[in-house]
Amino acid sequence: MKTLEQIAAELQGYDPQALSADGVNEFLARLVSPVTETETVGIFEALDRVLAQDVISPISVPPHDNSAMDGFAFDSAQLRPDAPLTLKVVGTAFAGKAWQGTVGAGECVKIMTGAIMPAGLDTVVPQEFTTVSGDAVTLPAKLLQPGDNRRKLGEDLMAGRPALQQGTRLSPAACGLLASLGIASVPVARRLKVAYFSTGDEILSLGEPPREGAVYDSNRYTVFGLLTRLGCEVIDMGVVRDDPALLEAAFTSAARQADAIITSGGVSVGEADYTKTMMKKLGDVAFWRIAMRPGRPMAVGRIASEGRSAVLFGLPGNPVAVMVTFLAFVRPALLRMMGRRTLPPPLLRARSVEAIRKKPGRTEYQRGTVSTAPDGTLRVQTTGNQGSGVLSSMVQGNGLIVLHHAQGNVAAGDEVDVMMFDGVI
Ligand code: AMP
Ligand code: MG
Repeated sequence: MKTLEQIAAELQGYDPQALSADGVNEFLARLVSPVTETETVGIFEALDRVLAQDVISPISVPPHDNSAMDGFAFDSAQLRPDAPLTLKVVGTAFAGKAWQGTVGAGECVKIMTGAIMPAGLDTVVPQEFTTVSGDAVTLPAKLLQPGDNRRKLGEDLMAGRPALQQGTRLSPAACGLLASLGIASVPVARRLKVAYFSTGDEILSLGEPPREGAVYDSNRYTVFGLLTRLGCEVIDMGVVRDDPALLEAAFTSAARQADAIITSGGVSVGEADYTKTMMKKLGDVAFWRIAMRPGRPMAVGRIASEGRSAVLFGLPGNPVAVMVTFLAFVRPALLRMMGRRTLPPPLLRARSVEAIRKKPGRTEYQRGTVSTAPDGTLRVQTTGNQGSGVLSSMVQGNGLIVLHHAQGNVAAGDEVDVMMFDGVI
């Protein structure tokens, strides 16, 4: 496990007072590592878990060549260019059991979708294209190519070949695929345990009466939702008052139980509270100023307790800054800790309907609403007030317009990158 100092030494031009958003992710990628413990779960419990081992197909899917249509199976060697083909029906192949007969020249077998292709037959003519008269079936000319409407053995998954890679999130499709292989349970990475709490004397918990100068805690609920969506086991530690004993107790208890700790508030420059002091006292923690908006202050490191340590993400206090720093930095780091093999989600390109002022030298994340223009292209409009406390902008918008570090002003009609919320949060 590397210290923050060792990681900092590996990075070119590391300056905790002026980090780029990319620099933050590079640092975090070196700070965190995947959990190694695994457990075996049934397919119904496997949804959204992270596969802990490669899965090799124990069988082929489909297990036999079979028909993709209801129709008549025949040997395509009998097809003649430009001429219809008339064949005699000598039997019927149903799904679920093999048809045992033999088929000679000029013959075919009536076949149902999913039924095993009888030996020697390679093509199926769909029933609706045929003319049937007694036991004779006529196929029109020029309709079929050899192999049409036949599914090949193993065309989906071949026995002995890799089916799923370690680090895959078990999506509904992946769970179905495992089931198609007859696999009833799989090894998955242990769920990541993440403890979180909000800090600040002005923060009210739900149920407390409003008080002058105080605001209700929203970060606890956004962080809870973000973590739950990621499939983490959450440890909710509530609001922790700006009191050294309470903070110490919260940090040490979190470090004992969790893989990661997320706090909000109390990390700004000149913050007159004990949060930063306590982070420094209990761990190896760096305090960053990130060239970004919203966001900027963030504490990162490890908090130790009783021989265990947890990765610390000390997020800023402002509700939008919390969500943005989570999406930009914490989420990729947690995915890595969960053992996920992922690429960053692709950004969408959309035309900005308005001019946006942007200073080069920092990354800005503006809340925007992407929609389809009448000409079918994507356009995006900012949600208006971009204040870092305007949480309604995160509800109103459907994505973050990512204005990159080196980027300057955006003119109306320019294309911008958007990180869509759907599927991410
Ligand atoms: P701080 O980073 O502690 O200086 O907080 C910045 C701003 O975010 C202040 O206006 C705080 O009142 C607000 N804030 C901090 N924590 C929360 C929270 N849990 N819920 C809502 N607002 C918060
Ligand atoms: Mg504060």
